[in-house]
Amino acid sequence: MFPIARLLLLYKDLNQKRCGRCSLRYEKHLDQCPHCSNLNDFALNAFLEERGIDPNAKSGLGQFIVFAVIVVVVIFFLKQMLKT
Ligand SMILES: [Zn+2]
Repeated sequence: MFPIARLLLLYKDLNQKRCGRCSLRYEKHLDQCPHCSNLNDFALNAFLEERGIDPNAKSGLGQFIVFAVIVVVVIFFLKQMLKT
């Protein structure tokens, strides 16, 4: 991909936010997600299934960061306990 096209994609990304309900991206200036704001829970699940999105899946990176922080905290406390 050309660097300019990549920059344009990045710029587009900066002007978008991710919907907490359907996890699709939409423009920041919109109050509601245009993809799912008019759908009830049942229609939303059908919509997500159609698009191959798992509604219960959280961001993989977010889960990894939470897991890593827990591991670091546990190691830290174990070290403190062994010192005393
Ligand atoms: Zn949405």
